[in-house]
Amino acid sequence: MTVHDTARVVAQRIQNTEINPYEMMLQQLDMVHEYTNIPEGIWRILRTPERALEVNVPVVRDDGSIDVFTGYRVQHSSARGPCKGGIRFHPGVTVDEVKALAGWMAWKCAVVNIPYGGGKGGICCDPTSFTPGELERLTRSYASMIYPLIGAKRDIPAPDVNTNAQVMNWIVDTAQVLSGESTPGIVTGKSIEMGGAHGRHEATGRGVMFATLGVLQRLGIEIEGARIAVQGFGNVGSIAARLLHEHGASIIGISDVSGAYHCPVGFDLARVLSYVETSPGRLLAGLQHPGVEEITNDELLAMDVDVLIPAALEAQITASNASNIRARVIVEGANGPTTPEADLILGEKGSVIVPDILANAGGVVCSYFEWVQNIQCFPWEEKETNQRLGQILQRSLREVWSMAEERGISLRLAAFILGVERVATAIQLRGVFP
Ligand code: NAD
Repeated sequence: MTVHDTARVVAQRIQNTEINPYEMMLQQLDMVHEYTNIPEGIWRILRTPERALEVNVPVVRDDGSIDVFTGYRVQHSSARGPCKGGIRFHPGVTVDEVKALAGWMAWKCAVVNIPYGGGKGGICCDPTSFTPGELERLTRSYASMIYPLIGAKRDIPAPDVNTNAQVMNWIVDTAQVLSGESTPGIVTGKSIEMGGAHGRHEATGRGVMFATLGVLQRLGIEIEGARIAVQGFGNVGSIAARLLHEHGASIIGISDVSGAYHCPVGFDLARVLSYVETSPGRLLAGLQHPGVEEITNDELLAMDVDVLIPAALEAQITASNASNIRARVIVEGANGPTTPEADLILGEKGSVIVPDILANAGGVVCSYFEWVQNIQCFPWEEKETNQRLGQILQRSLREVWSMAEERGISLRLAAFILGVERVATAIQLRGVFP
């Protein structure tokens, strides 16, 4: 069995046994319907992506053999501006997952009120099995195959799970070779030397930090000494953990795909971060830390903490584990970590959930800043980026919080209403064409 076959089997298993993310996105959307006056026809437009492209990407392996990987680029809506959304390399990538993520991007960009629509891309593959050369060839082939759809004024990809600044650099370069023009604004999340924004790498985690601080302050919970558990110790989870730790929080639970760990007195974050910097696959496996016990991922989610930050993948908090969750506040670093059924259970328990489309919007907001800097050929200092990021996220939280209070609804419902209504308004103002 080739690695490609293995990736397909994993994807199939995920497809067969887990919640379909697109169904989940539609369920969330339908929940919003009764709270809005959006006409039926516009509603039908909102429920379907504008375009979904499937590509089959051939890659020449280092040993000369050829594998083919299926990838996608989905544009949910371009009503408010160019489509915007990351590219994911993961064995679980399916067209329905990418469609769901593209829809969430449309609501997310609208809820923080930046001039973008929503899109997403992904390739069903296991990137850990690639050599750097194979990864580059995979990325460039995929970029050339989705090239007709993407562009600084059309659709702007960015990093997501298992993709990073290097992957974005290859995409920019491929586009430049194909077009013969310098096109830094075609993707965001690039290296600084390639036109990337100072602060982009930390931006999503920083946004999670702003969301956490904002909600704790409103609930009257001190950040100093607040106990926090973080599921997923990649870009979003590790940076959110570090920044909240710097604000005085005690990070007592962390996990990644290799395992989960509990440290009742709080992790020494500098020590953990320096360990994963050089550990195989940047994983927590093998972490040596005083006072730490290994726990299961389910135990991590059920920890007695003030804040739980799911920052791994979607559908982690489900109907089967939601009743065990003890965190007062859940700040969704990941996209779609809570299923609609789990959301209802948590709502009844009185948990306060800062939804993904608000909590993890820091990345796309900073991507917007990067795009603006690329268009203007005028780079900003990191301080300016972080300051403006804070302003946008604080304003967005304020708007969502006020709507939730005024209408007596959850933060998720308020964020969805705000985002979806803004997209619907743009569609109505444009008119329906063709
Ligand atoms: P990443 O690949 O850097 O990190 C993902 C982390 O999750 C890794 O530590 C991985 O080991 C862990 N993980 C995977 N499966 C797990 C499991 N079953 N249990 C526990 N841990 C598990 O990815 P990332 O960029 O940090 O993205 C994480 C989430 O945040 C995704 O849902 C992504 O869509 C979302 N997100 C990312 C960004 C961004 O800028 N990177 C922006 C918005 C949203």
